[in-house]
Amino acid sequence: GPPVGVLALQGNVAEHLDALRACGADARAVRRAGELEEVAGLVLPGGESTTLSKLLVAFDLLEPLRARLADGMPAFGSCAGMILLAREAIDARPDQHQLGALDVVVRRNAFGRQTESFETDLSVTGIRGGPMRGVFIRAPWVESVGRGVDVLARIPASISGPASGKVVAVRQGPVMATAFHPEQTGDARLHDLFVTRVRESVAATR
Ligand code: GLN
Repeated sequence: GPPVGVLALQGNVAEHLDALRACGADARAVRRAGELEEVAGLVLPGGESTTLSKLLVAFDLLEPLRARLADGMPAFGSCAGMILLAREAIDARPDQHQLGALDVVVRRNAFGRQTESFETDLSVTGIRGGPMRGVFIRAPWVESVGRGVDVLARIPASISGPASGKVVAVRQGPVMATAFHPEQTGDARLHDLFVTRVRESVAATR
């Protein structure tokens, strides 16, 4: 199949490479513009969005990545990756760059600074065979979505407090993002969906 990249500047890179390989993908670490050119889709892992934003600039990847996304490259962001893909991030450092590939506003560290991690089962649109375990680590949530954005998952109403019902997975055309970490659970169903989407997008442009 087509090469699928994982942005390998910082964060949970190895786990995403493993998950993609478990789905049969030709998974590759992407650190340079030349490596970005070779992949047909890109995972943006969780980590720290301010650091990732700085490293995108330092590695001369920010504009090439914006160009690939504008050109319709499939992308899958988790946590900090979701923050970077968003049009706007509330409570991000003012100098943090946004890729603007998702017409959403996210709130960084939304579950509260004290809330290091939080887990719950999630029903995810497009994922068959039962709920996915949502692992949230200093995670954002989505405050608002634009017209072209599909909501794929919300924090269940059974969870009380401000997180209840918040949007935690979205898709806009070829770009998908989750506030949680699907690479931490051994459940590769979202990676599988993404790999399939990358294959379809390559087939469609031939
Ligand atoms: N809180 C981090 C940020 O703002 C994201 C945490 C994560 O990716 N696990 O970038």
